[in-house]
Amino acid sequence: MTVKQTTKTSRMSRRRRLHIVPAPEPRPEPMHPAERRMRDAGGPDDRACYSCACGYLFEARVTAAVRCPNCGAQQAW
Ligand SMILES: [Zn+2]
Repeated sequence: MTVKQTTKTSRMSRRRRLHIVPAPEPRPEPMHPAERRMRDAGGPDDRACYSCACGYLFEARVTAAVRCPNCGAQQAW
């Protein structure tokens, strides 16, 4: 009696490739660098363009006391 060994299946199972899970993608930055810079600067809406009576045009943060860097006059807001 000859027993046919079916080594085929066992070899196949041994050769079965391991399922390699790809490394998870790095988490996206919580905030865009440009947006962070803008927020650090006080936000995009905190600055305004002022035109002083002396003719000097400048951009400054919107505060109660904005002074002209040229003549020092307080600006209306
Ligand atoms: Zn001025």
